[in-house]
Amino acid sequence: MVPKTLGELRQSGRRSRPVKQEIRDNLVRKLQANESLFPGIIGYDETVIPQLVNAILSRHNFILLGLRGQAKSRILRALVDLLDEQIPVVPGCEIHDDPLAPLCAACRSKIAREGDAMAIAWLPREQRFVEKLATPDVTIADMVGDIDPIKAAQAGLNLSDELTMHYGLLPRAHRGIFAINELPDLAGKIQVGLFNVLQEGDVQIKGYPIRLKLDVLMVFTANPEDYTARGKIITPLKDRIGSEIRTHYPSTRHHAMAITSQEAWTDRKDALPVEIPTYVREVVEEIAFQARADRKVDKRSGVSQRLPITALELVASNAERRALANGEPVAVPRVTDVYAALPSITGKFELEYEGELRGAEQVARDLIRSAVGNVFTGVFEGVDTRTVAEWFDLGGSLLLSDGTAAAEVIAQTCGVHGLRELAERAGAGKGASAPSVASAIDFVLEGLYAQKKISRSDERGYVAAEAAPRRAARREEQNIEEEIRIPGSKKKYYN
Ligand SMILES: [Zn+2]
Repeated sequence: MVPKTLGELRQSGRRSRPVKQEIRDNLVRKLQANESLFPGIIGYDETVIPQLVNAILSRHNFILLGLRGQAKSRILRALVDLLDEQIPVVPGCEIHDDPLAPLCAACRSKIAREGDAMAIAWLPREQRFVEKLATPDVTIADMVGDIDPIKAAQAGLNLSDELTMHYGLLPRAHRGIFAINELPDLAGKIQVGLFNVLQEGDVQIKGYPIRLKLDVLMVFTANPEDYTARGKIITPLKDRIGSEIRTHYPSTRHHAMAITSQEAWTDRKDALPVEIPTYVREVVEEIAFQARADRKVDKRSGVSQRLPITALELVASNAERRALANGEPVAVPRVTDVYAALPSITGKFELEYEGELRGAEQVARDLIRSAVGNVFTGVFEGVDTRTVAEWFDLGGSLLLSDGTAAAEVIAQTCGVHGLRELAERAGAGKGASAPSVASAIDFVLEGLYAQKKISRSDERGYVAAEAAPRRAARREEQNIEEEIRIPGSKKKYYN
């Protein structure tokens, strides 16, 4: 039975423990039971999670250092699962005082007055996590609190009496977890305030010393470069952070695809079934890998995993739009749909000077093309694709767009010798639906274009590649200019 009064709580034999001990105890139990520790956090099993476990076992305050979109905030929020499901509190106390060890004067006098008959309340663990994004305008009042002179005057109290205190975020995280994102953005003065509360359990507000023996697990995130930059973090605060844990982007395309399919909203049973071919998922993922390695993209700010997540959502939507317009029973995204995801890509990275000159949209187009080339090479390693290229060399050309119905794509390309066989190899085998076959055909054409075996332009679609390499290079430039000139056109000619 859950105790309802202070007396029942005392009889239950329940002992208060500091929050770091509570989290440690629960972690130890999970480790003994061989439970999965951070469900939904993918690709960190051998790197981040062991370090995190060690920090928690050591009862450290810790900081996650990493670039944007590396699941830092998500990891911090997952710590809630390591708290007890609920803890007893003094009802109405703003800082969730422990009935067995109250901090504030109001609770102490309430307990003295009511004794064992005092009713207690239970606080669920979700309410014990306080999160704050650090910005330069955060004040001591926001973080620690302020003195309320009116409250003091009305109650006839001295200003330094804690009853006159209006609590900030940190005291409200008492007995819980306090997470500060982007710690280096916090002004030095506020860092000093935090440090004082952590170290001494007291703080000065407007010159009045206030005592607050708070019990919190402090966790932080920061961009590694900001964190190590001299003067960004005051040394005593850095000293109090027991562990620095580096996060990273997924190290394999396989991990990255698992994260994206977990996070992206593509399971849209409300309209049509959306069937995303593996090569489309791979291309979307590869864009982020290419961007992270591209010298035109700023390495210090990184390329968020949200890029492939939101891109895949737009890719699915573009396929839905086409399927709905053409009355098709299933939406199968094509590689060409990735260009419709440009609005989700261009904002997800910062450009270096060279990239600025080229423009975000063109950089993104280049990334898509090299991503397609990379994935295509993987699928068609050692496969002869010459017959298809020859069809274009003999003067064949195709005019397709991302709105072309599946049946139309198949009809237009049926004379291209060898194309259907390659499409089968990409996954559209016997019995595949028309939208799947059309998608596979599109993948082959975009792949050959990425490998420069055929060319494509917005006006003339897919056509033969130029034979002489030097001329081909010039042609390339010209195509790029055409793409810049007519960004609205979605028609593509392959030949
Ligand atoms: Zn209290």
